[in-house]
Amino acid sequence: MPELPEVETIRRGLTKRLIGQKLHHVTVLENKSFQVEDEDKVFLKEASIIGVRRRAKVLMIDLDTMYTLLFHLKMTGQLIFREADSELDDKRNFAAGHPTGSWLVDLPDRSTRVIFDFDNGARLFFNDQRKFGWIKLLPTSEVVKQKFMAELGPEIVDFTKEKIPAKISEKTYKEFIQRVRKHTKAPIKGVILDQKVIAGIGNIYADEGLWEAKIHPATPAQKLSDKDLRRLLRAVKNSMTRSIESGGSTMKNYVKSDGSRGNYLERFANVFRREGQACPRCGTEIIKTKVAGRGTHICPKCQKIEE
Ligand SMILES: [Zn+2]
Repeated sequence: MPELPEVETIRRGLTKRLIGQKLHHVTVLENKSFQVEDEDKVFLKEASIIGVRRRAKVLMIDLDTMYTLLFHLKMTGQLIFREADSELDDKRNFAAGHPTGSWLVDLPDRSTRVIFDFDNGARLFFNDQRKFGWIKLLPTSEVVKQKFMAELGPEIVDFTKEKIPAKISEKTYKEFIQRVRKHTKAPIKGVILDQKVIAGIGNIYADEGLWEAKIHPATPAQKLSDKDLRRLLRAVKNSMTRSIESGGSTMKNYVKSDGSRGNYLERFANVFRREGQACPRCGTEIIKTKVAGRGTHICPKCQKIEE
């Protein structure tokens, strides 16, 4: 599932390609994916794109009609931008999100749900195999008032800055700790996966952060000191920063903004999907277990439950 760094990678890739583009036509192949009221569709007509933003895992495309398109990729969503008459490997093209072969074939294909055509011939495809993702259209001023936006915990730092801030603010640390403290016996991994506690953490960065902070994922939240929680938030931030700076994470393969492919997890992950390999810190074999109902990767020596 794309997490905050993956969506941020999409935001970075699409910003330079979409700003200034004018919408010509929207083709909806799957109504479930395009949750837009008929009466609002007029605000898409000949609208120009003036901004591309992100909050947690939600991507927002602002239009000059004072409306905003919102995208949630959920488990298998992907966004693919193709210049007019371009070869598939054209450097100006861009594909990110859930990694599949759709990145490298002619589109639409079987997973294509919505197509945005621009007046210069460029196209943006929203693909989603499992159809859990969605697109909504809202007045720009209403976006922050939506329940799923208003309830979100803070962003760890402003990852949209070209130079990602080196430090987490005191305000964010305090808000995070305060929100964690609403949970007592719940395992810390489940707590940080809660988007109301902190925005944008999913399975990859939860495992990576807990490993770096040397905290066992099943530790009840109340057993951790404020100092532990600060160290944990810093660790997650470090992992996300490495991920964004190395070109954005996907599960197995990825296609960077330049079209090249690679195993992205290898560039920053220390434990995620590394069961059977040696812990980079102590050499003990990494194991896979289950915490908070999720597949969880730990070093059994570095991460012990505090009694
Ligand atoms: Zn270890």
